Order: sequence, then C-alpha cells, then structure tokens
Amino acid sequence: MPELPEVETIKCGITPHLIKQTIQHVIVRQRQLRWPIAADLHRTIAGQTIQAITRRSKYLIVKLSKDYLIIHLGMSGRLQIVPTHTPYQKHDHVDFKFANHCLRYHDPRRFGAIVWTDHDPKQHPLLSTLGVEPLTDAFNADYLYTHAQRSKSPIKNLLMNAKIVVGIGNIYAAESLFLSNIHPLCSSKQLSHTQCQQLVSAAKQTLLAAIAAGGTTLKDFYNGEGKPGYFQQALQVYGRDGQACVRCKSRLEKLILQQRSTVYCPSCQN
Ligand code: ZN
Repeated sequence: MPELPEVETIKCGITPHLIKQTIQHVIVRQRQLRWPIAADLHRTIAGQTIQAITRRSKYLIVKLSKDYLIIHLGMSGRLQIVPTHTPYQKHDHVDFKFANHCLRYHDPRRFGAIVWTDHDPKQHPLLSTLGVEPLTDAFNADYLYTHAQRSKSPIKNLLMNAKIVVGIGNIYAAESLFLSNIHPLCSSKQLSHTQCQQLVSAAKQTLLAAIAAGGTTLKDFYNGEGKPGYFQQALQVYGRDGQACVRCKSRLEKLILQQRSTVYCPSCQN
C-alpha cells in the first residue's frame, strides 16, 4: 500500500510533467474504483489546465483551471507519465492526455479513487476531518502531549489515528517508537512532554528518511516501469521479529495491536 512518503515522492515525480499542461482528453476504461468515477468527467475537465498538485495525507489534490481532482492510490494504485501512444495494459483504468504525454492511472485492486469537486477540497468529506500533517510545525510536542493526555489508547494507536495526525502508518509508528525508547502498549496518558517531543522528532525523521530513499527511485514513476512499494530504507524493528536489537542485541518481540503486528525491543522500549 502506498504510504505518505510514496505519495509525496509520486507527487514530486509527476508534478514537473503536468504543471501548466492542458488536459486534452480523458479516457476512462474502468469507472468502478472505490467510488465510481463521475460519468461526465471528460466533458467537465477537458480543456482545463493543471495549476498545482499538492498532497494532504495520502490524497493528491490536482488544482485545475476551475475544478479539482482528489486522487487516492488505495492499496495498489499507481500514477505514471507515459508517452502519448503507449499501449494500455490490464488495470490501466484512466488516461489523462496532454499535448505530448499522458498521465496513466493503474490499479489492480481498484481501492483507489479519482474524485472530482468544484468546491474547496479541504472542505471535502474525505479531507475535512483529517488530523495535522506530520511534517508540518502543527505536529509538535505540545500538540501530541495534549492529545495523549486526553487519550485512553496505547500510544501506538494514537500515533496511527488519522484524526490526530495523518500518514504515520504501521512501519513508521513502529520505527518511531523504537527510536524514542517507548513501548507500543504504553498508555498515551503516561507519556511525558519530553517523550512526546522525542516521538514527534522520531516520526518526522523516519518519514523524511523514507522520502529521501524514495527520491532515489523517482525515475521509476515516469519511465513506464514504476513499481512503487515500500522504499528500501534501513528499518530497525519493522519486519525484524526474532532478530537482534541493533542497539542492545536483545531478541526483538512481536505483539498484535488493532490487528497489526508490531515489533519492538523488550529491553530498549519499556
Ligand atoms: Zn534493544
């Protein structure tokens, strides 16, 4: 599943090819994504020019001359820039055609979405209840501490609660807790302000490292062979159940929290 760093990298990869480009034609081969693509999408957006592409959580917001598209990649979605006449393959559901190339949406599992709106996308029901962005100053120690004090959840659940902060998926939560020496089951209420500070810094550091790792595979997003997945980055606990802690050599353990497995070091994180 594309996570926040992948979506950020995709945004950076496609933006230079799309900005100030006019949509000449839209081909929808499969309308049934997570929600059906608007039947009149072609008539509505053909002729409009792309003004900006931004990201909110894992949504890409494409600002057109008059309207907006909100794009989510779901479990298996992919956006690629391909030359105009590139033959389409299975699961290539949508093409946005420009003068010299095409933005192609590919999604085998079809949990993604392409939603049209002519209102402020930040007020759209998909986006309006989202928590703060983890890489902005709004996600800081005071903010996390305030929410932690009010919470009845273990800290890992709080970190992964998109109504509080978006984009900290299972990998990033596990890594951030390890970097901060905090046990995943630690009650949010028990965290000190200093621990909240450490956790905020660790989460930002982990996400930025993933984005930096993604930058090295950026070419894949527009050479027609893109296979975005988890970026190769040095993970210290995620996926290392039973192996030695990189810090103290203790055996890493696994627990299940909200149906998600979490690996942690029983010595470093307590
Ligand atoms: Zn350890």
